[in-house]
This record gives sequence, C-alpha cells and structure tokens, in this order.
Amino acid sequence: MTRSPILTLSNISKRFAAQEVLSDFNLTIQDGEFFTILGPSGCGKTTVLRLIAGFEQPNEGQILLNGDDIARIPAEKRPFNTVFQSYALFPHLTVFDNVAFGLKMAGVDVQDIAVRVADALAIVRLSEFATRKPHQLSGGQKQRVAIARAVVNRPKILLLDESLSALDYKLRQQMQLELKQLQRQLGITFVYVTHDQEEALSMSDRILVMHNGQAQQVGTPREIYESPRNLFVAQFIGEINVFDGEIVQALGEYQYEASINGVVREIRCDHRFAVGDKVHVMLRPEDLRIDCRPDVAERKGFPGIVLERSYTGQTLNSHIELENGQTLMAHEFFDEDDPDFDYSINQKVGVDWVPGWEHVIPAERSGKA
Ligand code: ATP
Repeated sequence: MTRSPILTLSNISKRFAAQEVLSDFNLTIQDGEFFTILGPSGCGKTTVLRLIAGFEQPNEGQILLNGDDIARIPAEKRPFNTVFQSYALFPHLTVFDNVAFGLKMAGVDVQDIAVRVADALAIVRLSEFATRKPHQLSGGQKQRVAIARAVVNRPKILLLDESLSALDYKLRQQMQLELKQLQRQLGITFVYVTHDQEEALSMSDRILVMHNGQAQQVGTPREIYESPRNLFVAQFIGEINVFDGEIVQALGEYQYEASINGVVREIRCDHRFAVGDKVHVMLRPEDLRIDCRPDVAERKGFPGIVLERSYTGQTLNSHIELENGQTLMAHEFFDEDDPDFDYSINQKVGVDWVPGWEHVIPAERSGKA
C-alpha cells in the first residue's frame, strides 16, 4: 500500500536544562500506519511523543502536519489524542461519560454525542459496559475505555505511551492483537511508544529504534529483525550471534569470502567491502544448524561443545562454546524424526548455517553497543 507522509519531525533538538535529549532528530510518519517508537529506558522516545502531542516544545526544528508547521500550536488545538499508561479515566464517571467527556467540553450536540459514544464503545466491544464505573472494569476493559475516549473525536493521530505495560502478559498479548485490529478498522495513524521488542514487532507497520536520543533505524518489523543496521539494533531486537570476520576476497557483487574464526567462508551481503575490511557476521539463533554426528571428520561447521540446553516445547535452545571461547545461542525447531536432534551437555558438535542466511555489517569499533 502506498502511503503519504502525515507527520514530519525535521531537525528537532530538545534540551532539558543542560541535557540535550534530542539533537538534529528527523522522522517521517505515514498516514494510516501503525508506527512504533522503540528503545531502552531513557533513550528519548517519550520526549518524541510529547513533542508530537504538544506537551513539550522543541528548542529547534519543525513539526509538520501535512506540511504545516504545528510546533507552536498548543496541545489541545492539535488534532491528536494521547492514551497514557495510567489510562487517566475519571473514577466517578461512568464508561459512557468518560468517553463523552471531550465531546461535551467541545459543546457537541447531545444526540450527536450519544451516537458517537455508542459507536466508539461498539468498536472497543464495551457497549454492554456503558453504565459501569472504572473500578468495576478489568485492566483490559479500562484500556479499551481509554482508547474509545481517545478515538471518539476522530483524531488524525493517536499517540499511545507504553499503553499496554500495566497489563499482565496474557492480556497484553490479546490487547496487542486488538489494538492492531482497531487501528486497521479506524484507519487512524497510531504512534506507539514501547521498550518491548516483541510488542513492537508484532503490532507495527514500521518501527523506529532509538538509542541515546538518536534514531538507529526505521523499517518494517522484518527489516529491523532480519537486516539490523548496526550492533545496537541487532542486539536490542531479540537474540543474535555475532562473529567477527575479515574480508579476504571479492567473489562478485555483494559476494565475498570472509575469514571467520580462522575459517574462510562465502558470505553474501548488501554492503560493498574491500579486502581487509573487518565485518560482523550475524546470525539469529534459529538460523544456526547443529551437527552432532560423533564422527569428527563428517561433522560440519565450527567446532564447539554444548554448555547448556533447554527444551521450550517448540524449540531446543542450546548454548554452545566454540573453540575460541565464544558462546553461541542456537534455537532448533523440534524434529521428532531426526535421531540426532537431542544432544547432551558437553557433547561435541559442529555449528553451521545455510549460506546466505548470514547478515553482514561493517565492524564497529566498540564491541557491544
Ligand atoms: P522511559 O522508557 O523510561 O520512559 P524514554 O525513552 O521515554 O524512557 P524520555 O522520558 O524521553 O525517555 O527521557 C529521555 C531523557 O530526558 C532522560 O534522560 C530523562 O531523564 C530526560 N527528561 C525527560 N523529561 C524531562 C524533563 N521534563 N526534565 C528534565 N529531564 C527530562
């Protein structure tokens, strides 16, 4: 689907006293997308959301809504609504009145309010709960009231700040699905802030990964997971194994031979490298293959020893120590027909991967981000 930009943050800087939280920060959000800002605590994601909402003013830069600069427009005049982690429902008001509140304040006609609130409650499947008070609702239901209240006046953008983090794990998973469905149904642009990688991957059309006030990568969940741009993104999103390597020969376009732990292997990548360049060769745990044939001569890949293994129902996860001391994580899908599948601790194995499944980036100077 082709989308057009609805919101652009251009060369934004934001300082709190002496601390520069964002500097020269740029971001474009497309109309109708579920966009997630993901990053560790303190990286500046709430600040970005609050700048969009209008609760904070940038020190420099522009915030453009459909091309018009709104950076100086007060929060209540922006066509956005925010759903806070705390939901911020009025405890003494019924569900209906909570949802109707903003419309009443805006002087909307009573008949109109009744129709719009009924619509909003139907969308979040709370029509039967209109007369209840917040304390008579579950966490998930409160969350839905907060969303109904935020969408009832059809904002152009809905901003959600860690909106699911107060819910327990099961409910959170259910609400992730509901939120995504709701967003699709409403067609409103959602900007969602979270530090939860799984949440970001499962709900978003696109994700911005932030670290130390800097945008690290913007992309679809698949791009972020399969082609992380740097070590920080690779290691922040799920688990990953990083081999250090060096380019020894160019074989063709985006095809090289690299020396990895002393073994020369063919690699494919979407970067151009020169002979002698240092690289990180990265593999997700599920992309590693373990060969545990007892005959050393037949065993393929990098030799190692099984340190730990755990069965998760779907996968057998193992920690494998290579001869150079590096520890790898491998997740193998359970295969009942494979007699070699279940290996034991201290067993000698070979670790390998299907050529082309590696993701290669230029080496970074500082090891872990
Ligand atoms: P979390 O996930 O913990 O909410 P975050 O990524 O949303 O973190 P921000 O809340 O945007 O991060 O904060 C980024 C930095 O800005 C932090 O160092 C924080 O202490 C600082 N900061 C945020 N708001 C203010 C403020 N009003 N005054 C001073 N410093 C602030």
